Amino acid sequence: MLSIVIPCYNEEESIPIFFNEVEKISQQIKHDVEYVFVNDGSKDNTLSCLRDLHKQYPNKVRYLSFSRNFGKEAGLYAGLQAAKGDLVTVMDADLQDPPELLPQMIELIETEDIDCVGTRRTTRDGEPAIRSFFAQMFYKLINKIGETEMVDGARDFRLMTRQMVDSILELTEYNRFSKGIFSWVGYNTKYLSYENRERVAGETSWSFWSLFSYSLDGIINFSEAPLNFASYIGALSCVGSVIAMMVIFFRTVMYGDPTSGWPSMVCIFLFVGGLQLLCLGIIGKYIGKIFMETKKRPVYLVKETEKDNV
Ligand code: UDP
Ligand code: MG
Repeated sequence: MLSIVIPCYNEEESIPIFFNEVEKISQQIKHDVEYVFVNDGSKDNTLSCLRDLHKQYPNKVRYLSFSRNFGKEAGLYAGLQAAKGDLVTVMDADLQDPPELLPQMIELIETEDIDCVGTRRTTRDGEPAIRSFFAQMFYKLINKIGETEMVDGARDFRLMTRQMVDSILELTEYNRFSKGIFSWVGYNTKYLSYENRERVAGETSWSFWSLFSYSLDGIINFSEAPLNFASYIGALSCVGSVIAMMVIFFRTVMYGDPTSGWPSMVCIFLFVGGLQLLCLGIIGKYIGKIFMETKKRPVYLVKETEKDNV
C-alpha cells in the first residue's frame, strides 16, 4: 500500500483540486492508495472538507485534526506516524509537488537499490528574488558548517520505504527540521528534478521572516558551528589584546605617554561589549532549544480523527 501524507493549513480551496488530481494519477499506480490528511489547526473549513472526503471515501481517506496550529513539521510527523503503507510519500496540499512524478518515483524505488526518491526544484521562478537569494545562501551556509548535507532546492515531497519512515519516527525530538532529519537518517536517496510550480489556490503561509527564523532553527538544530564561532572569536580577541598591550607598553617606554585615544577606546568597548552580547545570544538560542527539549512536550495534540466520525 502507498500512503500519502498531506499536512494542511487553511487549504479548503486546494484540497478538492489536490484530491482529484492525485486520484487521476493513482489510476496508473498498481498499489492501494491511502490518504492521510493532517489538519494543522486551520482557521477555515479545511476540517469539514476533510470530513466530507472521508464520508465519500471511507476506506481511502483518513485524517487527523490538531487542537491548534502546531506547524508543518508537527503535521508531517503526525502523518508519518499515522501512515500504514509500505511506501510513504509526503506532499503539500497546494499541488506544488507534481503528482505526475509519483508513478516514476514508485518505479524507481522498486527497481533500483534505493530507499527514498526525493524531488528538487531546478528553478525558483515565481518566487520573490530576495527569497531565492536567501534560500541559496542558507544552503551554502548549512552545507559548509553543518555535518548533515542538505540539497539545494530539495522539497519535502519524497517517497520513502517503510524502513526509512520507521527510522525517521525514531527521532523523537521536539525541535524538528525535516530537511535535516531526512538526510540525517541516511539511506540511499535519488533526486528527480522538476520546474517550480505556483500553488493552485490559497496563499502561502510562510512570510519572509517565518522562513528566516525557520532557517535559523535549521542551523541551530543541525550544527554546532555558531557555538564554535563564539569560542574562536573569544580566543582571537584575547590574542589581539595581548599584542595590543605589548605594543602600548613598548611605545610608552620609548616615547612617553601623551594621553590620547579616548574615542578609539570607546569604540573598542562597544565592539567587545557587542561581541559578548552576540555570543551570549548564540548560546542563549541553544539553551532555549535544550529547555524546550527537556520539557518533553508532545510534538502535537490530536483533537479529532476519522475514527471519531463514523
Ligand atoms: N502547512 C501546515 N502548517 C503550517 C503551514 C503550512 O501544515 O503551519 C502546510 C500547507 O498547508 C501546505 C504545506 O504545509 O500543504 C506547504 O505550505 P505552503 O504551500 O504555505 O509553503 P510554500 O510552498 O509556500 O513553501
Ligand atoms: Mg506551497
